[in-house]
Amino acid sequence: MTPDVRPLVAGNWKMNGTRQSLGEIKAMADGVHGMLSERVDALICPPSTLLYVATALCTDSPLMVGAQDCHQASHGAHTGDISAEMIADCFGTHVILGHSERRTDHGETDQLVKAKAQAAHEAGLTAIICIGETSDERDAYQTLDVLMRQMIGSIPLDATADNTVIAYEPLWAIGSGLTPTPTDVGVAHAFMRAELGQRFGEEGRHMRLLYGGSVKPTNARDLMSVENVDGALIGGASLKAADFLAIYSVY
Ligand code: PGA
Repeated sequence: MTPDVRPLVAGNWKMNGTRQSLGEIKAMADGVHGMLSERVDALICPPSTLLYVATALCTDSPLMVGAQDCHQASHGAHTGDISAEMIADCFGTHVILGHSERRTDHGETDQLVKAKAQAAHEAGLTAIICIGETSDERDAYQTLDVLMRQMIGSIPLDATADNTVIAYEPLWAIGSGLTPTPTDVGVAHAFMRAELGQRFGEEGRHMRLLYGGSVKPTNARDLMSVENVDGALIGGASLKAADFLAIYSVY
């Protein structure tokens, strides 16, 4: 945790979930409302097909709803894409950008992620910018170099502690059941904190730094108690309200 930084527990449903899954979102909304934690924010990012109905389910709950990607343009001839404005129009508050699955499946570059983050900011959304190394890069001791390159390349200059969250997600930890040791997470997050402080001053010192990659109820407490870790980005374990709320209740 970082002093004076309110943590964020965020779920990423990826390409999972149909209308039948809305009961899980309702249970999360009720659970977060029931716990009424003053100390931590909660966010769920379902597929965009469920965005509008999910925000409607969360109107009486502090649970926020976000999207998993947006186009860098506000509108136009971009078949199949959605814009940050459209997310805001559905009452979404956040958008995940530069997830490694987007970088791999769709060839997204740091430059594109930066343009998308700017579009998100212009629409009033908070961008959750994902960075992280592959297992080969880790084995070659390049983790910090990769994080530096991705931070410089993907985070726009207008980033503030309010409009930007950084998620450290080692690719080898995503969906694998593997996680870095708390010590390794601490090294990566301290490095990110120092770099963000250098670049953005006070804003960088208060930007939320999430850890993502195989976060589960069983390991959340250890990972979330690492210095400079201000919450989690959760994939698989966010699909069930019980698991999501168990991680949320760590705070
Ligand atoms: P996971 O996914 O929790 O299933 O490892 C994390 C992510 O990709 O954000």
